Amino acid sequence: MDAREAALRQAHDHALRWLASLSDRPVPARAAVEEIVRALGTELPDGPSTPADVVDLLATACEPGLTAFPSGRFHGFVVGGTEPAALAVDWLVSAWDQNCVMRAASPAYSAVEDISGAWLLDLLGLPGGSAVGFTTGATMANFTCLAAGRDAVLARAGWNAGRDGLPGAPAVHAVVGRDRHMAVDMALRYLGLGAPEAVPADDQGRIRPEALRRALAAGEPGGPTLVVLQAGEIHTGAFDPFAEAVAAAREAGAWVHVDGAFGLWAAASPALAHLAAGCADADSWATDAHKTLNVPYDCGLAIVRDAAAVRAAMGLRGDYLIQADEGDPIDKVPELSRRGRAFTVWAALRSLGRSGVAELVERLCRHARAFADGIAAIDGANVLNDVVFTQVCAEFGSEARTERVLTRLLADGTTWISGSTWHGRRVMRISVSNWSTTDEDVARALAAVRRAAAAA
Ligand SMILES: *Cc1c(COP(=O)(O)O)cnc(C)c1O
Repeated sequence: MDAREAALRQAHDHALRWLASLSDRPVPARAAVEEIVRALGTELPDGPSTPADVVDLLATACEPGLTAFPSGRFHGFVVGGTEPAALAVDWLVSAWDQNCVMRAASPAYSAVEDISGAWLLDLLGLPGGSAVGFTTGATMANFTCLAAGRDAVLARAGWNAGRDGLPGAPAVHAVVGRDRHMAVDMALRYLGLGAPEAVPADDQGRIRPEALRRALAAGEPGGPTLVVLQAGEIHTGAFDPFAEAVAAAREAGAWVHVDGAFGLWAAASPALAHLAAGCADADSWATDAHKTLNVPYDCGLAIVRDAAAVRAAMGLRGDYLIQADEGDPIDKVPELSRRGRAFTVWAALRSLGRSGVAELVERLCRHARAFADGIAAIDGANVLNDVVFTQVCAEFGSEARTERVLTRLLADGTTWISGSTWHGRRVMRISVSNWSTTDEDVARALAAVRRAAAAA
């Protein structure tokens, strides 16, 4: 066995041990940063080590400091786990080490990106022929889509942003809902557009279409305008009322973008597609494959109806590149060299099939409803949202008790559920995003919440 093979076998063994530990290990890490630093040692060695030893040292030293994010009982933030086919293919992606910049350089990658892109448009009910770019996550997907939108609305106003930049350009009016994700603000900042105008939302975090209409009417008539809507609010899972909001944006001549980092996947389920109704009439959509679809990090999707618009914003030419007339993977995203992200997306979709994707999304929602029912039955606890999707937002009678429940829950270790502030109240926020969560996981996590609440 050569050194490389020994290292790969070592990594394989550690990976299987880690995955096997998930059913029983506490979800939070057991060791702090300083302990892991001590276990690894801080001295840079003077000379080489055997690859297998390096793998073994890292895996052994880090093990107590790993959080069980892939556990079926991780319900903090909005993260996903990793579907088995996607995880296995992710190992291959590293071994294959493809540079995924150009069609000519890796025909295999481009074939898989083309097929996955078409499958995604079909599953998400989005217009065929839209450009599908594979980014690091939804943050960069929002950025990519809004870059295309910014340049397109400026072009309509007679301004060439690609050539002349932003100084002296007509002001771009960016309008968002009050409860949009902060990644949207960051994308707008990167794009030199500053802070957006935030319009009121309802108690679930859905933009109020009449407020959007008023904000748009107060802007420069016919001026360059971006409207950002949301599919899936991170506390409530709520979806903006797309039909009305898109109509209002269209009347104002705006580019309409949807941040659907985890919620866009409702469209893949016949039972849940009504939540996203009207969303397909937008101009661009950002979503993640590493959340609801459960592929490994890092994988977001930037989808733009007008493929030429995203190519104008993101495309580039270089004399040393071998570029295809129909466009290359780099023409849809900000990066040049990058990982072959479409491989894992293809693997997850191929392994689940159409019915499997729908069933996955429906299962996550069913578990979220079970959480809501279980929490509502606890003395003094209140579920604050309409549980339409994968998110549950709850409180325990007072800010102080909610805080105590959260602290006890984390110390208990059976599950990871974290806090947030929702419309001025301290809340517990539960996200069900992991493919591997079972009814038993939900029962165990709920029992832990009951224990924490009983003691708080
Ligand atoms: C997670 C999330 C983002 C950011 O996505 P990343 O993949 O972490 O970059 C943006 N918007 C919403 C609604 C999200 O849930």
